[in-house]
Formats: sequence, C-alpha cells, structure tokens
Amino acid sequence: MNTIMRDASVTRSIPLSRPDIREEDIARAADVLRTGMLVQGPRVREFEQAVSDLLGQVHTRAVSNGTAALHLALVALGIGPGDEVIVPAFSFVATANVVELVGATPVFVDVDLATYNVDSEGVAAAVTDRTRAIMPVHEFGLACEIERVVAIAAGRGIPVIEDAACALGAMSGSRHVGTFGTFGCFSLHPRKAVTSGEGGLVVTGDAHLAQQIDLLRNHGISEIDGAKEFVAAGFNYRMTEFQAALVDSQLRRLTQNLEYRARLAAAYHAQIVNPAVALPTIPAGKVHTWQTFHVLLDTAIDRPAAMRCLQEAGIQTSLGAQCIPAQVYYRTKYGFDGAREFPNAHRAWRHGLALPMSENLSLDDVAYVAEHINRLTA
Ligand SMILES: *Cc1c(COP(=O)(O)O)cnc(C)c1O
Repeated sequence: MNTIMRDASVTRSIPLSRPDIREEDIARAADVLRTGMLVQGPRVREFEQAVSDLLGQVHTRAVSNGTAALHLALVALGIGPGDEVIVPAFSFVATANVVELVGATPVFVDVDLATYNVDSEGVAAAVTDRTRAIMPVHEFGLACEIERVVAIAAGRGIPVIEDAACALGAMSGSRHVGTFGTFGCFSLHPRKAVTSGEGGLVVTGDAHLAQQIDLLRNHGISEIDGAKEFVAAGFNYRMTEFQAALVDSQLRRLTQNLEYRARLAAAYHAQIVNPAVALPTIPAGKVHTWQTFHVLLDTAIDRPAAMRCLQEAGIQTSLGAQCIPAQVYYRTKYGFDGAREFPNAHRAWRHGLALPMSENLSLDDVAYVAEHINRLTA
C-alpha cells in the first residue's frame, strides 16, 4: 500500500458494529434508576408486552441473556442426561454449550454455505429415538427452513427451540421467527439489533411453559394462596428494570432500523464484485435482520492478512461464527475433526468474514468497505 493511500485511509474508522443508543433511550433508563425499583418489575412487564405485540400470539419472558433463554427452554422441557438435541454445526458456541449444561448430547448437523443455515434434510437424518429437541439457529438474522424443521419435529412429537438470538424482527413468510417452535429465544447483547447490555427473551405460545419460565428465572418462586413458596430449583436469570427501559425504548425503532440495515446490505450486494468473495443468499419470502453481513472468502485468500489490511484502512472485521464441533471442548470430548464431518461449517468458520453493519454506518462507508473488499486477492 503506498503512502498516499495510507494517508487517505487513516481518516476513516469503521467499526464492525455499534449499538444504536440515543439520548431518549438513556433518559428512559435513567428515570428508572431514580425510582429505586431496579429488578424485574413493571418496566420488564411493559417490555415483555411490547415484544408480544410485535411478534403476535406469544407469551414473552425477559431474562438475563440469550444463553440463559436457551438454557431455560431446555430445563423447562425437562431435557437432561441421555437425551439428544440437534443443533447446527456452525453457530455461536452458546447454542451447543446449553445442551452440554443440562447434561444432554448435542448432535451436530452441517449447514448450507449459501445461507449459513442448518440443512433441513440433515436434520431429518439426524433424528434418533433419543432426540428430545431440535434447536435450529436463524444464523446472522436470516430465517432457516423453519417450516420444514417444525414439520420434521411435529411428525415425531419433538419440540423445536428456535435459537433466534440474532433474529428479532426476522420473518419467514408473514410470520416472525421465534413463533414457529415450542420456544423462541432471543439475545439482547450489544451485537444484536436492540440491546439491554446483557439480556435475552424467551417466547412461547404455551401458557403453561411460560409459567415454568417464570418460576425458573426467579429461584423457583410461586405464589400459593397469597404466600411465596419455593416450588422448583430455579435460577436467578432476571432482567433489571433499567435494562428493560433501555431496550424497550430502542424497540420502537426496530422496524425502521431493520429497513436501514436492508439498504446497507443491498448496497454491499450491488458493490462487492470480487469473484473471490461469495455474498450471502436470501431465499424468497424471508426478511433478514442483517445482524451480521457475512461473506465467504475464496480458500486461496489469507484471511488474517486480509483482516489486517482492512484494519489498516480503518475497517474492522471479525469472524462470523464457529464450527462448534471443531472447538477444543467438543473435539476433545467427542473426538471430532470438524473439517471431515462438517465441511461447510468448517469452511465458513475458517474462511468467513463479518463486514461492518450497524445503524451508524453510512452508504458512503459501505461503498468504502466494498471498494476494499474488491481489492482482496489471493
Ligand atoms: C448471541 C448469540 C447467543 C448468545 O446470546 P447472549 O445474549 O450473548 O448470551 C446464542 N446463540 C446465537 C446464535 C447468538 O448469536
């Protein structure tokens, strides 16, 4: 890179992502701090109602993070040792870790490289008489073939837990993701569309299961004849009131923000023309949240070198997700190689790249990033 280019580039600093938190959101959180009522109260209930109104036909429970949401769903279904849970081989590790945490066995299925979502035929093939749940992920905010997964599960009486951590607002057809399965779980981490810092959501259409989540997130406390009784060995997975106010305030802009992200994604699609960089495919009828804009580099491109070169131009990038069976814990425990059993997941983990995507990005920033991506060569 010559000196002139380097000088031009230092004026730019484009982060991978930055939460869209505005003064009005901060003011709502600050108001709560002045009340002295800090944990799981009226603000949490208001936020839960707002999410139920958005998604339709569900009971919503706010919890301390997305991993807690997934963990609670498994515990509420009574899943434990001897049980198998089908999960994608390419996701954030939390998807499989929660299965380990309840003592069950994750059964990994490879993904499709065009969408990064789990292969539904692979899901059907992985079902055994020990399968107690299927946990598909709507990877990077794109709905997986959820209708197909639900049909596979329903035919065998198996519950579906949707890991919709990145997908609040994503749709398949006219329906929100998270509402197809027995449970839908969302994350409100700062890398997701709306954030409470740490935070998560469990949604379910089943009133009894919603009540189980209520108990389990709050020490197993139930009111019986007006008295508090401890009826289950529960967790403390509650959300705080100021977090609920902070995220509820952002939720009002969700649709508008997702529309803006879709414009940025369309600009990436139009402007990245490097044959060594594969762009994500969006099947018809899906609304993507673009939590991550993930591309796949040709195997001949040296990814660490490419990331360093982009960083020098002020462009922050990162890895998208992991090939979970190839991580030390899973490799050691189950003897996986990773590349051999799950070639697509392994390829996406090794050669994938998450590009900057957030409300704070301008179309001009996208053009600048695209220009630098177009320069990447083997
Ligand atoms: C972010 C994420 C999680 C975990 O959510 P936290 O709120 O960070 O605990 C789980 N699964 C997927 C697919 C995620 O992207």
